[in-house]
Amino acid sequence: MRIILFGPPGSGKGTQGDLIGRAYGFPKISTGDLLRQAVRDQTPLGKKAEKLMNQGQLVSDDIVEEMVRERISSPDCRRGYLLDGFPRTVRQARGLERMDGKKKEIVIEIEIRPDALAARLLGRRVCSRCGAIYNLDLNRLKQEGRCDLCGGSLVQRPDDHPDVIRERMRVYREQTEQVRDYYISKSVYRKVDGSGGVEEVFGRLKLLLDAELAGPEQRKARA
Ligand code: AMP
Repeated sequence: MRIILFGPPGSGKGTQGDLIGRAYGFPKISTGDLLRQAVRDQTPLGKKAEKLMNQGQLVSDDIVEEMVRERISSPDCRRGYLLDGFPRTVRQARGLERMDGKKKEIVIEIEIRPDALAARLLGRRVCSRCGAIYNLDLNRLKQEGRCDLCGGSLVQRPDDHPDVIRERMRVYREQTEQVRDYYISKSVYRKVDGSGGVEEVFGRLKLLLDAELAGPEQRKARA
């Protein structure tokens, strides 16, 4: 099983991906996280990606596809995995099929009103140690500026600034939205309402995933 979480920056893919991963035992693969790690480690790939990421541009398909290919070949991905932030272009979607075409696939878009996105991104903070995601408007932290899980300091992502957010939204509309049509044509596309609290959205995702994982017979019986 492969779950692809789809949606614009700020729709909650990362947060919901963590919850789904934990609940269903699928590793979450976030290409953004993998790239940020490469930037922190200042690998040759990280150095190439850093400038583009800080400008809100996409990193090249070849680089990202190679990263995904390597990650999904790990033994922990054999049963299934969840992708967050990939594919972002139709070329990447086709590349993914070439890499691993046999898995049952479900693509879920987290739908959210465009005017809510910028506010979410501006309020987002991430733990510099463990990567946990928070929102200053929604989460009451045990200690200000510190991660509830590991105590690491919370930081703002360099691309969560107004100018870069605008560019990321433009790139999403221009390059990534076409991926939706690609998956609609493959009949694997679903959507959930992404408004409301984290638990509320997760509840909707869980209903959908439980039905998908149950298989056609059980789905018929429930209908
Ligand atoms: P994210 O954490 O998913 O918001 O990604 C942060 C940044 O990493 C994006 O704005 C891109 O610069 C880069 N990135 C992440 N995933 C991809 C991808 N699938 N294709 C190209 N660039 C990506």
